[in-house]
Amino acid sequence: MPYVNLAGLIPDYIKNFDPYIPSKPDPELMKLYGCDKLYRLNNNENPLGPPPTAREVIGRFEPPRSVLYPSGDSYYLRKRLAEKYALDPDQFLVGNGANEVIAFVIKAFCQEGDNIITADKTFAVYEWVASFSGFQARLVPLKDFGFDAAAMLDAVDERTKILFVCNPNNPTGTYWDEQGLRRFLTRINGSRIVVVDEAYCEFVESPDFPDGMRLIEEFPNLVVFRTFSKMYGLAGLRIGYLAGSPEVVDIIRRTCVVYSVNVLAQDAALAALSDDEHIVRTRALVKAEKAYLAAELASMGLMTQSGEGCFVMVRLPMNDTLAYRRLMSHGVMVRSMTGFRFPNWIRVSIGRHEAMEAFIGALGDILERT
Ligand SMILES: *Cc1c(COP(=O)(O)O)cnc(C)c1O
Repeated sequence: MPYVNLAGLIPDYIKNFDPYIPSKPDPELMKLYGCDKLYRLNNNENPLGPPPTAREVIGRFEPPRSVLYPSGDSYYLRKRLAEKYALDPDQFLVGNGANEVIAFVIKAFCQEGDNIITADKTFAVYEWVASFSGFQARLVPLKDFGFDAAAMLDAVDERTKILFVCNPNNPTGTYWDEQGLRRFLTRINGSRIVVVDEAYCEFVESPDFPDGMRLIEEFPNLVVFRTFSKMYGLAGLRIGYLAGSPEVVDIIRRTCVVYSVNVLAQDAALAALSDDEHIVRTRALVKAEKAYLAAELASMGLMTQSGEGCFVMVRLPMNDTLAYRRLMSHGVMVRSMTGFRFPNWIRVSIGRHEAMEAFIGALGDILERT
């Protein structure tokens, strides 16, 4: 009889962890919900796609290059990032999306009995990686939809290794300004690792928004995350990175998986960095469509929460999972927010005007029917 002693093999923290269920591919969803068009407004992708500089590199890719392993440490990309941010190439680690570098940092610093601190309503991957790796994730409630610095400091104990701050926060769009972030880093005073996830920083125009890259020298315990998935429109290629002081990055590097970043992703990311016009165009679209949504949602009498970033949260007078399904049957895919601990809220990514009109039309329709 084939046999495996599973019960005796599984750590408790794995047994108690529910796997994340990804959504099905578009054609399957369209069959399931009976729609012939699908607007994906659930993942904050750039509706303009990758910048033309990156498109060209992707289009020119020569299939025989697939035979060779990529640069194991994204050599040229790190060199370019170092020039762009006036840091050393060794201060960068590139991963298979920023998601992968989250795991690098947790593995590098946490051991049995340690904990990490983050907010209860933020990007959930910090919490998930800590939990399924056997570490406690201490979740501090948001205050006025933003990260609560004082409460996070209060939650620190002798086993706290890392504090994760999402700036601006996904999904609420709030951010710590430079003064607020400096104050927090000063209070931590080098005793813990502070990660600032800047996945949406390229969308922010406010002059008081802090540029983490420029704080690394002053705060060597600061680790900054960036990604090519959002502003740079390369989510499908999976590439993101972290930056930090040479001594901190030297430690994190030990937990890196080499060759996890493919050839095409490295080339496309490198090219994307030299297209600033793409950022200008994307910001203009996001600004115009956010204004459109704000006006439409207000006239429907719905409460919203938005700030920086390419997404808006909407509070519905109905269950968000039900709203998700009804919107899907209209060909509009949003993010239901119960998983983010925001029951009855949805998050909608900013898309092209046609997609925003489709969303507003579908939402009006499903609300009328409840
Ligand atoms: C999308 C996102 C990321 C990670 O994206 P990758 O695609 O893994 O690079 C990280 N943090 C936040 C807050 C995000 O929204």
